[in-house]
Amino acid sequence: MAKELKRYKLSINGRWEEAASGKCFETVNPYTGEAWALLPEGGEEDVDRAVRAAREAFESKEWKSLTGGQRGQLLRRLGDLIAQHAERLARIETTDNGKIIRETTFQLKAIPDCYYYFAGWADKIHGEVIPTDKPTILNYTLREPIGVVGAIIPWNSPLYLTSIKLAPALAAGNTVVIKPSEITSVSALEFIQLVEEAGFPPGAVNVVTGFGEKAGAALTKHQLVGKIAFTGGCETGKLVAKSAADHLARVTLELGGKSPNIVFEDADLDSAVNGAMAGIFAATGQTCIAGSRLFLHESIHDRFVEKLVARAKTIKMGDPTSWGTEMGPLAFKDQREKVLTYVEIGKEEGAKLVYGGEPPTDPELKKGYFVKPTVFVDVENHMRIAQEEIFGPVVSVIRFRTEEEVIQMANDVRYGLAAGLWTQDVKRVHRLAKELQAGTVWVNTYRTLAFSSPFGGYKESGIGKENGFEVLREYTQLKSVWVETGGPIGDPFVMR
Ligand code: NDP
Repeated sequence: MAKELKRYKLSINGRWEEAASGKCFETVNPYTGEAWALLPEGGEEDVDRAVRAAREAFESKEWKSLTGGQRGQLLRRLGDLIAQHAERLARIETTDNGKIIRETTFQLKAIPDCYYYFAGWADKIHGEVIPTDKPTILNYTLREPIGVVGAIIPWNSPLYLTSIKLAPALAAGNTVVIKPSEITSVSALEFIQLVEEAGFPPGAVNVVTGFGEKAGAALTKHQLVGKIAFTGGCETGKLVAKSAADHLARVTLELGGKSPNIVFEDADLDSAVNGAMAGIFAATGQTCIAGSRLFLHESIHDRFVEKLVARAKTIKMGDPTSWGTEMGPLAFKDQREKVLTYVEIGKEEGAKLVYGGEPPTDPELKKGYFVKPTVFVDVENHMRIAQEEIFGPVVSVIRFRTEEEVIQMANDVRYGLAAGLWTQDVKRVHRLAKELQAGTVWVNTYRTLAFSSPFGGYKESGIGKENGFEVLREYTQLKSVWVETGGPIGDPFVMR
């Protein structure tokens, strides 16, 4: 007998609700290939209800009268609750997207710090008194919330990417409607229960599950949404920006990447090999910051590739809920097809496949959407496998001779999310940190992030920043207030 699936509802205005369509969709465990939960298929009507609830909450006396300090208290409580439920939530995410339990547990244990960090900012968001050349005028600014924020989330790190939007949005006094990815919606609906338990008023945070083209699109075009915070693919990001532009909603876009990871001849090679592994095989390569173009100086190229392949061969693929597993499956079937298609493209383009490029033969992994860690050498920077985001465990190794040449190639791509640099030469470090067209540059490390440090892309990798104080600018608007403290107004026909 088929196992009965847990059935979820939308969370609108603090209530559980069915989708107006009455329809549901299944979410699939990518390790077993089996459905494990049922989600409501929200659409335009549901999004409208959620946005109106969020707007009402935003306008409510209860929300407006909260001080920054009180919002900070709510965020701290939410952080505490997430810490208490971290292991359960991590297991849900692993079941939904196949990311290994070590990584999801690490993320869930780190997420409370995001809420604590922004709780600290909640009572420190302020304007300034501005000196002017008008002696009797007092001019000051107020930094105010925008209103309703629509948060659209991808499937690779669902609660992490939700939290880096939600925490600053709430700290600044906005209310939020979350649209998770259809691939990974369960954790958002489990998480929203903690938001309520923390004491946020109904409507302050809402979750509408459903498909991107319907629920996501409805959120981006809703007139009452003042800002869209989006993480996802480049092409979707452009659609989101166009739709938001119709009613001039603000947008932050955190999009894809094809990040260069550059190893010079003087690098500590063992560390750099680990950095290259972290860059492309961690999270099965399904990270926006994947170091998917590995530039190796010609003098260390062969030795480095040998070490990398030797390490790749030892990667333990398996059940992502097992603590010892190092690489889980890709998150869904089409994603595996996409990765395997790129492997074929790479071969046709003339790159040399030196390892992987196929599903593992282990019968235990047969049902899951696995692809072996994959290494291409003899890649040229113009090839599609060097220019397009594969979003899987496929590294394109490119040989270089000079610093000038590698800077030119590293920047010759439409993306600009991150870059890695491995060298002991301090002068070169600072030269390249300036020259590389990327929102983040890592030196002798890779995939290092903190809630206190701004993150975001250059070029087609996005618009705006997440994390750090910078993100609070993205969730606030600035008002300039002019007060005449002196005598009467003079000539009404000239500007004062
Ligand atoms: P998508 O762009 O396909 O989807 C992202 C989100 O947008 C999902 O919730 C999706 O819903 C929704 N969506 C889809 N179509 C629309 C639409 N027309 N209007 C509004 N919303 C829509 O990305 P993926 O989920 O495939 O995620 C992978 C991408 O995310 C990669 O390119 C990766 O680089 C990027 N990413 C960027 C990060 C960054 O910080 N820069 C971090 C992590 C990932 P649904 O899933 O239901 O279709």
